Amino acid sequence: MFVGHFAAGLAAKAAEPKAPLFLYIAASQFMDWGWSGLVLAGVEHFRMAPTLPGSPLDLYDMPWTHSLPGALAWSVAGGAIAKYLFKVPTRAAAFVGAAVFSHWGLDLLVHRPDLEVWPGGPRLGFGLWNHPVPEMIVEMGLLAFAALFWSAQRTREGRSTWTAGLFLSGLVLVQYISVALPKDGPPQGMALSALATYLIVTALAWLLDRKPASL
Ligand SMILES: [Zn+2]
Repeated sequence: MFVGHFAAGLAAKAAEPKAPLFLYIAASQFMDWGWSGLVLAGVEHFRMAPTLPGSPLDLYDMPWTHSLPGALAWSVAGGAIAKYLFKVPTRAAAFVGAAVFSHWGLDLLVHRPDLEVWPGGPRLGFGLWNHPVPEMIVEMGLLAFAALFWSAQRTREGRSTWTAGLFLSGLVLVQYISVALPKDGPPQGMALSALATYLIVTALAWLLDRKPASL
């Protein structure tokens, strides 16, 4: 699961529009922002295993970001940042927190068993990554559905809907690049490019959700 996570951000925006889209988009990948940062800092670890079917990521050590208590802590932190730093209403902040936690739920679906129930405890993961074509269909399907909900919400607000098509095209491009990129570099390089991708997508969400200045 890569760009599919953003589906949760779009769906949350459609369900509770009182937080900005970029916050929801950042929230849906907040755990991976942390993961990229901690991989770069040498705290969490992964390796490339090109012999694995589907995604070559062997995510053998990520207790701080992808264990169940880790995910819950990131979700609470995400909700608190939304409420106290970005001053969004409490209900919207709760949706931001839920968008953060959605990351763990979607990872559970696709990851091979690498999500610890508690640090050092049993590992969960239904392994859809081992079946790349159905995995891609699920990921893109979720995105398409969520984009429809987001478009409907924008229509209700009397705003244009071409943004959904543009955002979706951007995400498909990101997904294509991430699949096509060579996978033989150091893990830190991959963590850095993931972090850059999340920043770019968040900036794109901010740009597309901006209200016209004259209003
Ligand atoms: Zn993740």
